[in-house]
Amino acid sequence: MTTKYIFITGGVLSGLGKGITTASIGKILQARGYHVTAIKIDPYLNMDAGTMNPFQHGEVFVTFDGGETDLDLGHYERFLDVEVPKYHNITSGQVYYTVIRRERKGKYLGQTVQLIPHVTEEIKRRIILVAKREKPDIILIEVGGTVGDYEGLPFLEAARQMKLEMPSDVLFVHVALVPVLSTTGELKTKPLQHSVAELRRVGIQPDIIIARAPKPLDESTRRKISLFTNVPINAVFTSHDVDTIYKVPLILEEQGLGRYIVTKLGLEPREPRLDDWVAFVRSLEDGKDEVNIYMCGKYVKLHDSYISIVEAIKHAAAKLRIKPNIIWCDTEEIEKEPSKVTELNNADAVIVLPGFGARGVEGKIEAIRYVRENNIPFLGICYGMQLATVEFARNVANLKGAHTTEVDPNTPYPVIDITPEEKDIKELGGTMILGNRRINIVKGTIAHAIYGTTEIVERHRHRYEVNPKFFKILTEKGLVFSAWRSDVPRVEMIELPNHYFFVATQFHPEFRSRPLRPHPIFVALLNAAYSKKHGLPSPWSHVLVK
Ligand code: GLN
Repeated sequence: MTTKYIFITGGVLSGLGKGITTASIGKILQARGYHVTAIKIDPYLNMDAGTMNPFQHGEVFVTFDGGETDLDLGHYERFLDVEVPKYHNITSGQVYYTVIRRERKGKYLGQTVQLIPHVTEEIKRRIILVAKREKPDIILIEVGGTVGDYEGLPFLEAARQMKLEMPSDVLFVHVALVPVLSTTGELKTKPLQHSVAELRRVGIQPDIIIARAPKPLDESTRRKISLFTNVPINAVFTSHDVDTIYKVPLILEEQGLGRYIVTKLGLEPREPRLDDWVAFVRSLEDGKDEVNIYMCGKYVKLHDSYISIVEAIKHAAAKLRIKPNIIWCDTEEIEKEPSKVTELNNADAVIVLPGFGARGVEGKIEAIRYVRENNIPFLGICYGMQLATVEFARNVANLKGAHTTEVDPNTPYPVIDITPEEKDIKELGGTMILGNRRINIVKGTIAHAIYGTTEIVERHRHRYEVNPKFFKILTEKGLVFSAWRSDVPRVEMIELPNHYFFVATQFHPEFRSRPLRPHPIFVALLNAAYSKKHGLPSPWSHVLVK
């Protein structure tokens, strides 16, 4: 079967949840037994998302092969339960870089190198490469940004050309906002009409419209959209606001989107199998017993900065049928006013989040001290693990002024230091320890009880590590190193054996959590939170040292 390509463009506004719509379309097609994958196009000039501030673009999603990519790849992985390689995130930076390098090598044989055809050919090559390598039935290609953006034009031009070259294999879906006017409660279609006009100006006639609206569209509104966009009325769908993103595939399926797409692409119409997904959504709703999970970090004002962690919590909560109440805790506030740390008394569990640099660090350390001393269930992720080590060094091992050299290069006790492989690297882009690494878990530890195995693979994104010079003293004082990199002597997990639940990871478990396969570490944390709240003994008490 030849691969089919579905381009998803966005209109009127960014931030409409186009990534979730793309992942949802993928889900309902995959539910029909088709092999589906997805690509994200980001028209910015960065090579990847790695050097971008999470305040602007949200989380950097790390792929198994070490790509630092757009967070939409996280939605694809979670909805489709796949692992996408890094070349599924195409940026203008990568495209231009390749073209210019090729020009310098003289590969264009005297031609004038131009946007069309050279840049557009490179874009098409990168999309078709996914089809060639992975042979999926369907590739979804989400074009980032909004139709009408200058920087997105070469990508739309490449998409237009692909339709011309393979008319029966390419489909265009346009997702655009249909707002409700607050004064009259009326759904307004004009902005959507304009965005379709903009698409048609560059030669693309959408096949399907998905209106993003606060409520389902009525028949007359859909008729109006159909008339003005030249799309049949049965190809106008609504993705209305829902209380959980995981319902989006179900509401699109209900309206017949899956059937419409397969018919339009000339594929065999099959019955979708979404039973597991429906059951998962129901278990998300079933959770009534609330637990307060405090998320402590410095980017907490933009919740998308930690989207995979939030989703991982939801997956685990669905499994345990509890309701996580996520409370954001800005550690800079604790830094300014240390007494604020007592707020963590309301926490059933605390996560100290990944991060970089000095801002908010003392607040994080203070939060860790508080949860350690007050037996509050704790999970530290990456920087969270490193700072838990610093806290332990300072306050338990009595190493005054202990720190990470990332923040204090002159600390008398550099318990966290740059890893040997990162020492001589000067550039920042794509140079961290990235992606999958094999890890061995120490038998008899809480980590071992959580995973139920001694060999795991997890994703990484860091430059620093627990300094081997301090292994001995920290261990003597009671810190347990419960997992190690399999190839180098690097600490991957720490835990405290005499605490209710105190576990931290150098890796990022959140990237491997899936709705139907929640990550064991998040399940363990939530289980501890629930038990603690209900005055039960720690679920790990059989492992804990008495
Ligand atoms: N800044 C730390 C490091 O580079 C932690 C990184 C992280 O939390 N992702 O090692």
